[in-house]
Amino acid sequence: MSSGPDEVGLDAAQHGLGDMDAEAFRRHGHAVVDWIADYLAGVGERPVLAQVRPGQVRDRLPQSPPSAPEPFDDALADLDEVLLPGVTHWNHPAFHAYFAITGSGPGILGEALTAALNVNGMLWRTSPAATELEELVLDWLRQLLGLPEGLRGIISDSASMSTMLALAAARERTGLDVRQRGLAGRADVPLLRIYTSEHAHSSIEKAAITLGLGRDSVRTIPTDAQFRMKVDALADAVREDGRFGYRPLAIVPTVGTTSTTSIDPVAAVADLRDELEHELAHPIWLHVDGAYGGMAAICPELRHVLDGVERADSFVTNPHKWLFTPIDCSALFVREPEWLTRAFSLVPEYLTTDDQGVTDYMDWGVQLGRRFRALKLWLVIRYFGGDGLAARVREHVAQGQRVAAWVRDHPDLELAAPTPFSTVCFRAVPPWAAGDHEEDLRTLNRAWLTRVNRSGAAYLSHTELNGRYVLRLALGNLRTTDERLTATLALLEQELEALRRTSAPGAPATD
Ligand SMILES: *Cc1c(COP(=O)(O)O)cnc(C)c1O
Repeated sequence: MSSGPDEVGLDAAQHGLGDMDAEAFRRHGHAVVDWIADYLAGVGERPVLAQVRPGQVRDRLPQSPPSAPEPFDDALADLDEVLLPGVTHWNHPAFHAYFAITGSGPGILGEALTAALNVNGMLWRTSPAATELEELVLDWLRQLLGLPEGLRGIISDSASMSTMLALAAARERTGLDVRQRGLAGRADVPLLRIYTSEHAHSSIEKAAITLGLGRDSVRTIPTDAQFRMKVDALADAVREDGRFGYRPLAIVPTVGTTSTTSIDPVAAVADLRDELEHELAHPIWLHVDGAYGGMAAICPELRHVLDGVERADSFVTNPHKWLFTPIDCSALFVREPEWLTRAFSLVPEYLTTDDQGVTDYMDWGVQLGRRFRALKLWLVIRYFGGDGLAARVREHVAQGQRVAAWVRDHPDLELAAPTPFSTVCFRAVPPWAAGDHEEDLRTLNRAWLTRVNRSGAAYLSHTELNGRYVLRLALGNLRTTDERLTATLALLEQELEALRRTSAPGAPATD
């Protein structure tokens, strides 16, 4: 029976007990694909930062669920009218906040296929292709990044989860049997420490919270003038802690810190780790956080950013950050996966199988059920190819250098940090600012950022460096053309000029 929509727009299937039938699926599916194609083609015309007040989206939608079926098209219409104004467009060419990312075409289609297959890859047997493709595609990524053979990988939702798993493996390797005995109430457990730089991501502390180690177990190490972890300060900290009975659990250097994208000296940290292990006769886990910056190693001329990572116990990098894969997709590589399985494997009778020589990813982490995330990453890598991916990352780095040069050449601006990748930290220090007092500059730069973001034509974020409020402009979207970037830089100049006019004595406010 052929099934167009009825007179109220419902599909025949909506009157029965089954799923949307194939013909209706095809019709709605084509509409959705057209919607996505139009959205991606026109996203650059939308205000990048959602211009809504809190509650505005929710207030415009029914507060109770419909009891009767509704036409699919009505929901799509609400997507356009109600939801889209409340969407901040991460796929927008002028999205430069946090880390600029791209949900690419092949990745979006991969997400659709993952949903269609709807497999749960908890065991090899529950979908052999999901497990084997995950292993394969992570090995491809390992090769693309020039990492050594023998590393094994697992895909998680986020770098936060990947890092938590890595530190759980480190905790397991202490031999303190925390898995069985826990930490609470034990007099035989020393204070454990995780060392990371003062510019490390908050996910390290979150992992410590989750693993029962507490925030106090994370000791942050000062950084040098280029925001890189100081290795002698790290050595001093570990040795000082040793005198007070702390036991080092892990060291977590970052390749591409979140504020400035600085690169900790991983090889020197690895040397120190070896020395300390020898001295203290305890293993110290080396976990490298390259959630964003690690991906730059896909370009041969930037491979050096991962120098030393071959000596790490684990390494995380996010395809959903700088490899054009839709959120979420984080890759964790480990040298000895048995520490993960020793930490997490727990197999109830109903999940036992007699499959030999296979990976059951449920044993590697917290999650039982797992999405088939490898599929989208596989499609992204096949569609662009290793060289195509490298060319795109290279282009973003070139754009970052272009913005850095623009800042350097601008009389009213100053660079606030080096630009090793594609993220630029800078601030306005114009001669007409009320004074060069830090508070005045903070007020000025905040006002500048607010004006730019309110315009809807670009979206930048900020950070704080050495007590200074600075803007961050991140490149990493495949739709950011040079023309668009030129327009964004012009917008920044125009908004700064508008601030100058309003700050001139006696000038009328324009806002
Ligand atoms: C973004 C980022 C994270 C967190 O990534 P999620 O996937 O959002 O958890 C961790 N570390 C660094 C260095 C990052 O840039």
